[in-house]
Amino acid sequence: MLTLQQLLALTPREVRQRAKNPTLSVKRDKEERKYGKEARSVFLNCRLYHAESTGTNYNLIIRNYGMSNSPKKFLFKPSSQLWVHCSCPYFTYHLEVALTLKKSSSIYDSNGNLPRITNPRLRPYVCKHLFATLISYLNADKGK
Ligand SMILES: [Zn+2]
Repeated sequence: MLTLQQLLALTPREVRQRAKNPTLSVKRDKEERKYGKEARSVFLNCRLYHAESTGTNYNLIIRNYGMSNSPKKFLFKPSSQLWVHCSCPYFTYHLEVALTLKKSSSIYDSNGNLPRITNPRLRPYVCKHLFATLISYLNADKGK
């Protein structure tokens, strides 16, 4: 499973540049046991308002498995281990399989085939919605 820092660092510049002005609406934020481990699951909608974005609302799930040295703390820190998902087409066609191979996502929307054309090196990174959301959670938990 990848950490928040790894997911952000692997995200290409053109995706980061589009991760601006998120409007987040949290539907559920709770601690639960998932895949045999304690986690904090956040279900939310994300919409980005700017020239390079369609402004469509997508469903995101972020599961925070905590930091390896203090797994009971589910703050968003660079070393937090994450499982992520976004309902946008970019995530489906570029990232779902690459992240699933790193145990940081699961196959829901794609057919599970390797993204030979869209992401042939299977680089595990996040879409603009997840990037913008993770940055805002990281900033909110800064100093905690
Ligand atoms: Zn997305």
